[in-house]
Amino acid sequence: MSARVLDGTAIAAEIRAELKEQVAALGFTPGLAVVLIGDDPASSIYVRSKVKACEELGIASTEMRPDANLTTEDLLAIIDDLNGRDDVDGILVQLPLPKQVDTKRVLEAMLPSKDVDGFHPVNVGKLWTGQDCLTPCTPTGVIEILRRSGIATAGAEAVVIGRSDIVGKPVAAMLLQANATVTICHGKTRDLAEHTRRADILVVAIGKAGFVTADMVKPGAVLIDVGINRVSDAADVERFFPGDTKRAETFAKRGSVVMGDIAPEAFAVSSAYTPVPGGVGALTIAMLMHNTIKAAKLRRGQQ
Ligand code: NAD
Repeated sequence: MSARVLDGTAIAAEIRAELKEQVAALGFTPGLAVVLIGDDPASSIYVRSKVKACEELGIASTEMRPDANLTTEDLLAIIDDLNGRDDVDGILVQLPLPKQVDTKRVLEAMLPSKDVDGFHPVNVGKLWTGQDCLTPCTPTGVIEILRRSGIATAGAEAVVIGRSDIVGKPVAAMLLQANATVTICHGKTRDLAEHTRRADILVVAIGKAGFVTADMVKPGAVLIDVGINRVSDAADVERFFPGDTKRAETFAKRGSVVMGDIAPEAFAVSSAYTPVPGGVGALTIAMLMHNTIKAAKLRRGQQ
């Protein structure tokens, strides 16, 4: 039987439609402030997509673009102002910050109740102690995909590869909260395949194109590929996607293709998998919108 594709784009559209209805029923307009420093093209694209998503859902957005030479103190003053503003429910500081700025101090200055990225230590602590809180967008998207696709987590062996604060650790905490038996693997793990071959649900977030191969996967496992990698070597494209005319066309046109951390040959032995693109990445902004509405409700004492 062929593996089921877990369509992140379709799930994200479903979530956005639900959120739009929720916003319309609120009786007030939630507000998101996005702070973008410098002119990194990738960050600018992300911010533009976030602002556009707000518009679609009826969320007010404020975009702040302070000068790239600002100091930590300057940015702390901006955060302090946003913390105090009644029209701002969520604050998002687009990372990475310029070198001279202390990222940790900035993230910790944010009110935990407005921290829609879920990176503040108070929210991290609440997540690991099973309290309701704002959780990081990409891991929240992973859990939504599993839930909406009817994939049972209770009692499942879940293996996460990657231990970043943004993806690996929070996704592990959420799987644990969802009653999975969780193993976290990383760059120093011995016999990685010994762990991955036990997984009913394998979440991969390392940033290495096609790293997980078919021999590392238990037949019938569910594969969640968080990685986003650009492959610009023709031989790699041919190796990962033999006979895939669509990818070959994209490569001819753009000189690269995007793929995840899991090799397509591994998808073939799974029961279900998230594609890249069109899988986990497609949900991230929808989950940011979800967090903004949640923050707005919590601040007004609504659940
Ligand atoms: P990171 O670089 O912060 O962390 C990578 C992790 O992988 C580390 O914990 C490291 O120990 C582990 N690792 C590296 N090599 C390994 C190996 N050979 N074996 C086992 N573990 C190994 O990366 P990150 O921020 O967590 O992002 C991971 C990937 O997810 C990247 O491709 C990134 O682009 C992608 N990502 C996607 C989204 C999204 O879909 N919106 C969001 C965030 C990150």
